[in-house]
Amino acid sequence: MEPAQTENPQPLPYQEMTSPDYARVAAGDFRAGRPMAGVVELKGVCPRCRAVMVVTLIDSGFKTALPHQGGAAQPEGPTGRRIEPIMCTCAEEHPHRPDDRFGCGAYWNFELR
Ligand SMILES: [Zn+2]
Ligand SMILES: [Zn+2]
Repeated sequence: MEPAQTENPQPLPYQEMTSPDYARVAAGDFRAGRPMAGVVELKGVCPRCRAVMVVTLIDSGFKTALPHQGGAAQPEGPTGRRIEPIMCTCAEEHPHRPDDRFGCGAYWNFELR
């Protein structure tokens, strides 16, 4: 009997890197959790190391910058979307990771809507 090893046998080394694929994969995979005061929690699978991770985004400046309502047309951003830089924060072991870092080093931009 010769069991085929299909799982990756060695841990992914820590490396700070990004790829357009990360943003695309994460956009379809990450879900925003229950909204809490000033905080948005995103949960998903890291597009690089495939570990489940949770990212907490501080919601400052997102909904609070409207001193008055109605009247004049609001200045709209080019897209009206908000881009947040996300970094992998998994708890897995990744070789060569500095002690003060988390995750596998992957980072990408997440579009919050
Ligand atoms: Zn990762
Ligand atoms: Zn990881």
